[in-house]
Amino acid sequence: MNTPDAIDHEALRERYRIERDKRLRPNGADQYLKPSGRFAHLAEDPWVDHIEREPVTDEVTVALIGGGFSGLCTGAHLQEVGITDVRIVDSAGDVGGVWYWNRYPGAMCDTAAMVYLPLLEETGHMPSMKYVYGNEIFEHAQRIAKAFNLYENALFSTEVTSLEWETESSRWVIETNRGDRFRARFVAMGTGPMTRPKLPGIPGIERFGGHTFHTARWDYEYTGGDRAGAPMENLADKRVGIIGTGATAVQCIPPLARDAKELFVFQRTPSSIDVRNNHAIDPDEFAALGPAWQQKWLTNFATLQMGGFADEDLVKDGWTDIAQRIRDRAILELAKGDGELTRELMAKAYEDCDDEKMEEIRARVDEIVQDPATAEALKPWYRQLCKRPCFHDEYLQSFNIATNHLIDTDGQGVERIDETGVWANGEHYELDCIVFASGFEVHLAHSADYETVGRDGLALSEAWAEGMHSLHGIHVHGFPNMFIEGLSQGARLVSNITHNLNEVGKNIAAIASNVLETGASEVEVSEQAQEAWMELLDTSSGSLLGSADCTPGYYNNEGQEPTASDLRNAAGYPAGPAAYFDYIAGWRSSGGFDGLDFRP
Ligand code: NDP
Repeated sequence: MNTPDAIDHEALRERYRIERDKRLRPNGADQYLKPSGRFAHLAEDPWVDHIEREPVTDEVTVALIGGGFSGLCTGAHLQEVGITDVRIVDSAGDVGGVWYWNRYPGAMCDTAAMVYLPLLEETGHMPSMKYVYGNEIFEHAQRIAKAFNLYENALFSTEVTSLEWETESSRWVIETNRGDRFRARFVAMGTGPMTRPKLPGIPGIERFGGHTFHTARWDYEYTGGDRAGAPMENLADKRVGIIGTGATAVQCIPPLARDAKELFVFQRTPSSIDVRNNHAIDPDEFAALGPAWQQKWLTNFATLQMGGFADEDLVKDGWTDIAQRIRDRAILELAKGDGELTRELMAKAYEDCDDEKMEEIRARVDEIVQDPATAEALKPWYRQLCKRPCFHDEYLQSFNIATNHLIDTDGQGVERIDETGVWANGEHYELDCIVFASGFEVHLAHSADYETVGRDGLALSEAWAEGMHSLHGIHVHGFPNMFIEGLSQGARLVSNITHNLNEVGKNIAAIASNVLETGASEVEVSEQAQEAWMELLDTSSGSLLGSADCTPGYYNNEGQEPTASDLRNAAGYPAGPAAYFDYIAGWRSSGGFDGLDFRP
């Protein structure tokens, strides 16, 4: 492995540029297809039977649109402040959000369970492992829903079709595809940034005569096995192809390589695969954690992630490792220079550490993968945060199984699909089944399939015609008693999504409670407060969007120059996530709720 001084940074930059250029496509995100025709079933829920029910026409205090961790955390905090009349509405048949839909084998969260799983102390759950599998996460979502009584009033398998503010009653009117028309005093929307599966726009995709499915709707009826990891025995006589090598594929390729007669992995860009080092949680150590331990761990993780200081690294993972390296390198450089911590110095420290980390990741490929040509093709040539970093201890190893074939396309992707298989690099691969690991439509700002119509008939799409505008990423002027549950324009801690959502939930509970206690009817952010927040966000420099030397992907708008509205949608608190959490906790507990108008 190269020591930092032995790395030729300029040569690396040039290689990164060459690899990026191979992958730049003029159609950017439009290269993907929305599922239709043969793939229309992707919009359906294979995990639940359709149950007829009477339409609901009542009124609740809070409607939570989305039963993933955003809705669950908000629901839990509302219950804590005594607001119990809460209704989750979700198109899925249960709570869990992405962990409801994504049941592919090997699904696991890349963020340590001690910080990723929200409300561990409140629910008394000890994660089984440092990183837990999808079924444990789904069960934890169900545990929260049970513990905070969120099932009782929920409407599952139900899509919101319209959401409109009714001025006379100061209520939201919610209509759904099940004929419901009910009112809510408050509405919180946690519809998620990546809910709709997308397909690669490969010519002939509709023509394939064999079986196909998307990873977000894994077809266990076809493959056999289950989400808990049972062998997929039906694949023992099948030639399976998988298209895509992102974070999802990295997790499901090892079980596919184990169970398929032959597996063909069609790779356009390799993911970066760092060590996972998973291990069981020690019950004695867990029992010894003091009160309020999870908040301490969350703060510790968020602080170290931004290059801050803490007495110890409680989570100790790939995310905190790179951030601490950058911080320590910057300090070293600082000691050499004139004592000023400039943006350039931080950028240099970041680049040096990133080069070092990526050299380690590439060296690890050589250590693990026996065939030199396969190893070479699995090496990522870009900065680690250009794409979602992956962590796995079986992915690279799976390419040592003789029946697992890496079909690298040197950045070009699959050429076309015909009745019997896939064409890549001018060769035809006959297949029984194609698995699409092609990801999801990505929305940086809140997005939903329905229109939200606020005060004076203002549509949210109109209000945001030039990108998301909010206070704290939560409140929008013109939309009283409405809250957005997301990351944008708030903490934007991408390495631990649920931390963002849990803090948003605390805010919503505190504000709704204040409305009810003070006898107000409405709460709305003032225009001035919203604009002041937008001006503050404009001072932020830290977005990967548009990073010129990044290989394309959804982290950087597929390599397209970001518009002003893309940048606004991706903005976060300029001082970083830890500072945002600190700021928002103070804002909330002060009780003044600066920037919000409470109206009778
Ligand atoms: P991605 O969007 O990350 O990956 C899509 C893949 O399809 C890429 O490898 C892409 O290649 C490839 N592709 C697209 N078109 C073609 C083509 N024509 N030929 C060959 N390959 C093609 O989707 P994922 O489902 O993997 O991940 C989505 C996100 O879900 C992650 O980034 C992460 O945020 C989340 N996730 C989180 C996990 C967690 O731990 N919490 C676990 C798994 C997923 P290219 O790279 O060249 O564009």
